[in-house]
Amino acid sequence: MIKTKGYAAASAKALLAPYSFERREPHEHDVAIDIKFCGICHTDIHQAREEWGGAIFPMVPGHEIAGVVTAVGSRVTKYKIGDKVGVGCFVDSCRNCAPCKNGLEQYCVQVPVWTYNARDKEGAPTFGGYSDKIVVDENYVLRIPDNLPLDAAAPLLCAGITLYSPLRHWHAGPGKKVAIIGMGGLGHMGVKLGHAMGAEVTVLSHSLKKRDDSKRLGADHFYATSDSDTFKKLQGSFDLIINTVSAQMDWNPFLFLLKVDGALVVVGIPGMPVPIQVFPLILGRRSLAGSNIGGIPENQEMLNFCGQHNFACDIEVIPIQKVNEAYERVLKSDVRYRFVIDMASLK
Ligand code: NAP
Ligand code: ZN
Ligand code: ZN
Repeated sequence: MIKTKGYAAASAKALLAPYSFERREPHEHDVAIDIKFCGICHTDIHQAREEWGGAIFPMVPGHEIAGVVTAVGSRVTKYKIGDKVGVGCFVDSCRNCAPCKNGLEQYCVQVPVWTYNARDKEGAPTFGGYSDKIVVDENYVLRIPDNLPLDAAAPLLCAGITLYSPLRHWHAGPGKKVAIIGMGGLGHMGVKLGHAMGAEVTVLSHSLKKRDDSKRLGADHFYATSDSDTFKKLQGSFDLIINTVSAQMDWNPFLFLLKVDGALVVVGIPGMPVPIQVFPLILGRRSLAGSNIGGIPENQEMLNFCGQHNFACDIEVIPIQKVNEAYERVLKSDVRYRFVIDMASLK
């Protein structure tokens, strides 16, 4: 077994604290990875605080993992020692269902094996990236382009793919008007990716604080949702709106901002049911849809796309000892735009 150091939550009410555990020795298709950096996703906070129920403690969160391969199993063909790699939100799936066979492992009918707060196929709990090592089947490992720094690339493995996938699926590109609600970890990547795909990008933010940043990241327009004029001015404007916000919010006014046949795609996950009116949908043949991260092939496509366009995430690097403080700042929308933990701080 491989001795591993990390940070874990012992219960939903506990702060994260140092935790030692063991990873399996690499099986024949496994890759052993030294984790260099791990992003802090808002999902980590939802999970560590058991906001969605069914949590497994102790919990080592983290699914935006970037590191370097240190060992490979005897039958590994895709990676070698020294490769720059990433691991995202899942580390296995059934591999037999239609979604798995179509590279949509995130929609595996048996549910993928999530990177943390789940059980692997042997029933052992999975532990995430707030740790110094991880062992993952090569088919669930991604290659990080050489020109991208590992720290800024780490959040691509969740924040990046979660926006890339719906932008592609709903055909963001030249001539398309796309709005991103909430410019946080996910949202700021929606701006960069949508802009790089050639779409006209608008940010809908709950205050005016991020206006200058939005332009720097590539947004064409910026509006505060706290200003009711925004909803009058922008009626019928967008082909696609992606909502990244988890805070309680009325979605109905946003549906009216869509053109005929436009789609409001939800990726943020509020803890409560959201009331929806039917009129904004039928008075414009509009759709309300959801989207979950992305599959392995699309994750690699997204990483290559970012490599080709030479950008990754805007980050604030922190030592792991500051993780609890970072959680509080994420909740206050006080991060520009993703915290990334430097695992050298675990030594
Ligand atoms: P985040 O960094 O905290 O960003 C959320 C943004 O929401 C904030 O930056 C803020 O942007 C906006 N916001 C609007 N009203 C707010 C309020 N009252 N208080 C605080 N912020 C407010 O979170 P994230 O990591 O991007 O994740 C967002 C959500 O997506 C979470 O629920 C997470 O679990 C979920 N998620 C889903 C998927 C998926 O596959 N579907 C993947 C990853 C994460 P402005 O300041 O611009 O308004
Ligand atoms: Zn995430
Ligand atoms: Zn499956």
